[in-house]
Amino acid sequence: MSLTAEANSRSQAAAELRHDWTRAEVRALFDLPFPGLMFRAQTVHRAHFDPAEVQISTLLSIKTGGCPEDCAYCPQSARYDTGVRAEKLMALDAVLAEARAAKAAGASRFCMGAAWREPKDRDLDAVCAMVEGVKALGMETCATLGMLTVMQAQRLKDSGLDYYNHNLDTSPEFYREIITTRTYGDRLQTLEHVRDAGIHVCCGGIVGMGETRDDRVGMIAALASLPEHPESVPINMLVRVAGTPLADKTKFDPLEFVRTIAVARITMPCSVVRLSAGREDMSEETQALCFLAGANSIFYGPKLLTTPNPESDRDRALMTRLGMTPMER
Ligand code: SF4
Repeated sequence: MSLTAEANSRSQAAAELRHDWTRAEVRALFDLPFPGLMFRAQTVHRAHFDPAEVQISTLLSIKTGGCPEDCAYCPQSARYDTGVRAEKLMALDAVLAEARAAKAAGASRFCMGAAWREPKDRDLDAVCAMVEGVKALGMETCATLGMLTVMQAQRLKDSGLDYYNHNLDTSPEFYREIITTRTYGDRLQTLEHVRDAGIHVCCGGIVGMGETRDDRVGMIAALASLPEHPESVPINMLVRVAGTPLADKTKFDPLEFVRTIAVARITMPCSVVRLSAGREDMSEETQALCFLAGANSIFYGPKLLTTPNPESDRDRALMTRLGMTPMER
């Protein structure tokens, strides 16, 4: 769907969008019998999207490792011994070569991720040049660079950035078990700067980090209560990376993951819900259930920043078996 079509469909549906979801209501959705939850999610999904279409994004790590933050799930934190080496910001030409390859593989959006607490101004100059270059290829652009000031968000907007990713990660209560180096409030503030600059928001979270169902309820309620629903809502399954504090978490129940997707779909009906990290560890049947629950975006490519992701060929084969097609820009 083009940005204009997305905007039109959102404004038509604006009247039905709710930003006052209570935790009790979100909890009641999570607690529905699975068939009833799936039926509701499907009904909402079909009212707003073609259920056979999937938006395809590609994510490139433009600056890997050495991050000063302490996000407990992240192999790129300098605090954990995960074998990820700190690298410099990639050169513009190399980034554009990756973007061309992603476009040729069917991606409509190119996301650039940097392991920073926040970008320095000179780094932002380089990222803005990348955004301009990717945009010139006819792709949508997305970046995830950490916290942003008002001015930085505006500069990115001026360079043509379409989306900015900044996740809430989990519920406000569980958040402090996962990250201590920045607050939930810091995250909300960056989201506000991004929104105020006129950049579309990509914001979601991670499940399987040891949180309770109430925390998943709190996360979805927080996302669905933002002043505007994020245009893109990535729901990630924890990738348990050796060396991180969450490496030994037990494998998360796939059906509870599907429930989380379904509740995101129902509460944020016009948002693109992205089945994000963790697909490599997920059966094709679970992924198919996620699509039935209302997920309508995936990342293509063998890597998500530093963690494995299914090869594009396998994804294409799964899409063909499911009779699903890439969403046109
Ligand atoms: S998630 Fe982002 S901010 Fe947190 S440690 Fe990883 S790279 Fe740094």
